[in-house]
Amino acid sequence: METLESTKELLEKDKKELKENKSELSDSKKAKEEKQSDYKDKMKQQEKVLKDLEKQQSDVKKLLSSLDQSSKTYQNYISNLEAEKKAADAEINQILSEYYANQNGGTTKPTLPAQNANPVTKPDSNGSYNSGDSWAWPLGSAACYISSPYGNRDASISGWSFHGGVDIAGGSGKLHGKPVYATRGGTVITAVTSDSGYGIYVLIDHGGGYSSLYAHMSVRYVNVGDTVQKGQMIGRVGSTGNSTGAHLHFEIRYYGEKQDPMKYVKKP
Ligand SMILES: [Zn+2]
Repeated sequence: METLESTKELLEKDKKELKENKSELSDSKKAKEEKQSDYKDKMKQQEKVLKDLEKQQSDVKKLLSSLDQSSKTYQNYISNLEAEKKAADAEINQILSEYYANQNGGTTKPTLPAQNANPVTKPDSNGSYNSGDSWAWPLGSAACYISSPYGNRDASISGWSFHGGVDIAGGSGKLHGKPVYATRGGTVITAVTSDSGYGIYVLIDHGGGYSSLYAHMSVRYVNVGDTVQKGQMIGRVGSTGNSTGAHLHFEIRYYGEKQDPMKYVKKP
């Protein structure tokens, strides 16, 4: 009997231990499950980060491709502008070569007189260009700067390596509507109103083989055959034709040959 009692006790003890073990096992299982769930959450987060990165990468790719497209469009636009300007330039060459051929009966043009044969002077104290015998600055006293000088340009940017005049601008279109003055007295030989090429432009013969050109104006006040005085208002600055902003494209030519205008006129 005593043995039976002790056996029962032992069994009870075992049972208790087993219960404890079971509970421990269940705890560790829970911990494992929790860890697994944490791990799953982390995986999910990482997947999300990866997806976000992929999305960003694709956005950047899209942006780059659209930038590339814009740059191509811009380059096309510039090369179209330059093509139109070339056409306008060829037109002026044609006009002047015919003009002088008719005038001289096709004889050879005289050699260019020395630059200092035409001294550069500033406007007089009244701001008038109508006195003296020099070349007047075509924009009077309007604040301006040379946005593109005469001569060779970076063809990789402009697509056109030679600039036959000076571009005079005022910054943020400030020159728009400012008066344009004849650099010297003479006769208007071409007066064009067009929305391509040089836009609204005037070509004046000053005699002695000299001529001047005023392009991209917003309006012109003279017609072919008009006699103009030096300093006379012939139009206003604009951005007509193939132009990217208000500026005056100004040329001085000798028997149709382009000269550096800055050797004749002086910016006040
Ligand atoms: Zn120009």
